[in-house]
Order: sequence, then C-alpha cells, then structure tokens
Amino acid sequence: MGRAFVYVILGGGVAAGYAALEFTRRGVSHGELCIISEESVAPYERPALSKGFLLPEDRASLPSFHTCVGANEERLTPKWYKEQGIELVLGTRVKSADVRRKTLLTAAGETISYKILIVATGARALKLEEFGVSGSDAENVCYLRDLADANRLVDVMQSCPGGNAVVIGGGYIGMECAASLVINKINVTMVFPEEHCMARLFTPKIASYYEDYYQSKGVKFIKGTVLSSFNIDSTGKVTAVNLRDGSQLPADMVVVGIGIRPNTSLFEGQLTLEKGGIKVNGKLQSSNSSVYAVGDVAAFPVKLFGETRRLEHVDSARKSARHAVHAIMEPEKTGEFDYLPFFYSRVFTMSWQFYGDAAGEVVHYGDFSGGRFGAYCVSKGHLVGSFLEGGTKEEYEAIANATRLKPAIEDLGELERQGLSFALTV
Ligand code: FAD
Ligand code: NDP
Repeated sequence: MGRAFVYVILGGGVAAGYAALEFTRRGVSHGELCIISEESVAPYERPALSKGFLLPEDRASLPSFHTCVGANEERLTPKWYKEQGIELVLGTRVKSADVRRKTLLTAAGETISYKILIVATGARALKLEEFGVSGSDAENVCYLRDLADANRLVDVMQSCPGGNAVVIGGGYIGMECAASLVINKINVTMVFPEEHCMARLFTPKIASYYEDYYQSKGVKFIKGTVLSSFNIDSTGKVTAVNLRDGSQLPADMVVVGIGIRPNTSLFEGQLTLEKGGIKVNGKLQSSNSSVYAVGDVAAFPVKLFGETRRLEHVDSARKSARHAVHAIMEPEKTGEFDYLPFFYSRVFTMSWQFYGDAAGEVVHYGDFSGGRFGAYCVSKGHLVGSFLEGGTKEEYEAIANATRLKPAIEDLGELERQGLSFALTV
C-alpha cells in the first residue's frame, strides 16, 4: 500500500507550516504536497506553548496559534490545507526512511514516496534518564516540547494550586516556564548547574538583572548543582527532589528543561550529519540532492560567521523553511541562505532580543535598574552580536541592522559611551 507525492515534508512543526505557505505562493498544484506529522494537529507556533498557552486567564488555544500567525502571516488551519490540496497526514510517525529509493515508511505500514523531501523533524527533549536520573515517567514530572506535553503541564499545574514546583534547567524552557508558573501562583525553585541562568547567552551582569526580577516575584535559585533523585510516593507522584549537594526540596510538580537533541535518527548512515544535525548547503540541501533539511534539525552555513551552525529557534525555522522552498521551486533564482541568527524571549513584562553571535568581548550599556539596557559582542575588532532588553521595534531593527553590517570597533570604551545610539546611527 502506498502513496506518491512530488514534495513531502517530514514533520509538522513550525518549519513545515512556513514551508507549506511558501509552496502555495510559488504555485504548488493540488495533490503534489504532503506533510507527515506525528502530532495530531496541523502545524502551530511552538513558542506559544511556554507563554500564552500557560496563562491562567485568556489562555491561548488552537486554532488561534496555528502557523503562520507568528510572523503576521495567514493562519493555516486544517481547512486551509484542504483548500490548497495539501495532504496532511497527522498522528503518523515515520519509522524508517530510504533516501536511495525515496520512500518513507509510516508506523501504520504505509509507504509514502517523494521526488523531493524536506526533513523538518525538529528535536526531542532530553530526558533525565540520559543524565542517570530515573523518574521521568512520574505523574507530576513535566517536559515541554509539544501540545500534548503542554496540556499535561497545565493539568499538573492546576492539580496543585499554590503548590511547590521545582524547575530543572536554567535555559529557555526553565526561564519561561518558571515565569508562567509564578503567574499561576505556584511557588518556584529553579535548579541548574551553572553559575547563572541562560549561561550560554547571558553575561553574569545580564543574568543578574533577570534573576533579581525573578527573585522579586518569589522565585528561588539553587545554582551549581544538579538533581540526583526523586522521592516518589505509592501513587507514582514525586514528593521531593534530592540534589547532588545533599539538599532536598519538597515538590508538588517538576518541570524539566535540560536541552534537546535533533531528530536525525531516520537518516543516520544515509545523510551527512554535523553538529548533531543534518548537514546542508546554502540551499538547505543535504548530502542527497533530493533531500532538504530545515529548522532545528538542520546544520547550515551561517555566511556571516563563515561556519556551519545548528540553531534551535523559531525565526531560523521559519526562514530556513522558506529558503528551502525557494531553492526547490526556483533553483536558478535562489542564492545562498544568508541568515542573521535571532533569539528572543518574553517573560513577565520583560522582553529581549539578541542578534548575531555571543562571542568575544562584551560591552554593556543602558539603564540596568530601569529595565532598558543592552550589550554588544565584539570579536576580532568587529561587532558580531547585539542584545537589547526593553527596546522599541525601531531599536530592535537598528541592533539587527548594525549586527549584520559587522562594523569595525576600534574603541570599546567609546562603544560603551555611545550605547544604543551606536546601533541607531551606524
Ligand atoms: P518542530 O517545531 O519541533 O517540529 C518538528 C515536527 O516533526 C513535530 O511535529 C514532530 O512531531 C515531527 N516529527 C519528528 N519526528 C517525526 C517522525 N519520525 N515522524 C513524523 N513526525 C515527526 N524559539 C524562539 O525563537 N522563540 C521562542 O520563544 C521559542 N519558544 C519555544 C517554546 C517551547 C515550549 C519550545 C518547545 C520551543 C520554543 N522555541 C522558541 C523553539 C522553536 O519552537 C523551535 O526552534 C521550532 O519549533 C523548530 O521548528 P521545526 O519545524 O524545526 O521543529
Ligand atoms: P537549553 O539548552 O536552553 O537549556 C538547558 C539548560 O539545562 C541549560 O541551562 C543546561 O546547562 C541545563 N542542564 C543540562 N543538563 C542538566 C542537568 N542534568 N540538570 C540540570 N540542568 C541541566 O534547553 P531548554 O530545554 O531550556 O530548551 C529546549 C529547546 O527549546 C531549545 O532548543 C530552546 O532553544 C527552545 N526554546 C526556545 C525558547 C526561546 O527561544 N525563547 C523558549 C523555550 C524553548 P548547560 O548549559 O550547562 O548545558
């Protein structure tokens, strides 16, 4: 049994939604395109799951955050796919791929063949078991990657009003979930191994601004240690968290955000891998010319830095997906993907953006007590990265433009003195 399509997108997340929109804009015909997704719903804006979806009031729910609303584009509901003649194969896991034969085999036993495949399988959350701790399957231990996880998190949160949550990990999931839990009046303790939160992006000075704010909202931080075990009661619920430093924290719920691994396993031994992802060229094409990879799973050349990177952020998923579709539909007219890395987060009333590379020396500027501050990263005499908290749309555009231009920086003191006006006038 089998079906054949010209184009198949494997994975139904952010990148899949943006690729589908681009295919329709470039004139795909009815019946040519198929999306296969393990999830039971049409592609949606995953960032909503740690933000609007967790709010106690006016909680965001589908269909409101189907792609591509996150970039102020059309909202692609299941009806839209139907009208466009795009086959949505939902609730279906692909269990093997054969890039030589150009076929995918689903868990239900169907073979789907393609002429061109876009791999958009994203990533999976790392489990505590991978760090030698058991208990991930306890009723009140939550991960957050997809809608099912988010529904579970909301249920667990609502089952312990005013209770204690332990958040494991000080990265994006940890910070955003901690804020959402506080807004839901849950007491939060964050535990992570580093000296400060968001260790790979924030400087100690920037991190301390956010940590102070979180502490003012009642969040406790336990740094420099990791979880060693859970106390689990006879009903299968975690009641306490034991840390490697010997301390114990009572817990009504646990949220774990300790990183991800790209979903590459279907293609291991068939496609070239790099940086944990599928290696692609500037057209998002893998080592097999009929297979493209986009989003979290793709390791692509970042022209600006002259090296291959794998980025785990939504803007990169959206833009890489679009670029791949351009390259597929109009190969002659499509150049190399020229992407400026962009990261952001929104927690409580705060909001920051970062463009470029968190490398080299850092120059801070602005008003850290008033919540309007920033930082520049300078490497080898050039501006390579810019951070800003509390900016306006125009100011964020300015730091993005400045970073893309990579201007020479001769005097760090002068850059510090100019602060944001440097980006506004460069
Ligand atoms: P995904 O969106 O993860 O989609 C992958 C899809 O592939 C899923 O539908 C999955 O089920 C499917 N799939 C995988 N394997 C198979 C298989 N074998 N068979 C069938 N289907 C399969 N980034 C930001 O920049 N800003 C944010 O604020 C932000 N917030 C986030 C909040 C949360 C809770 C999470 C989890 C991520 C957040 N991100 C954010 C990251 C961003 O969502 C990802 O970078 C983005 O979703 C990547 O898109 P993707 O299409 O590559 O992968
Ligand atoms: P991150 O990589 O952001 O952070 C993981 C954190 O967990 C790091 O602080 C890491 O430390 C720490 N950690 C690793 N191992 C352990 C351990 N055994 N015990 C305790 N802490 C540990 O991943 P997240 O899970 O937070 O996020 C998952 C994905 O979702 C990422 O791709 C992220 O980009 C995406 N996301 C993005 C958002 C955004 O862009 N606004 C929002 C939400 C999610 P170390 O650095 O030492 O490894």
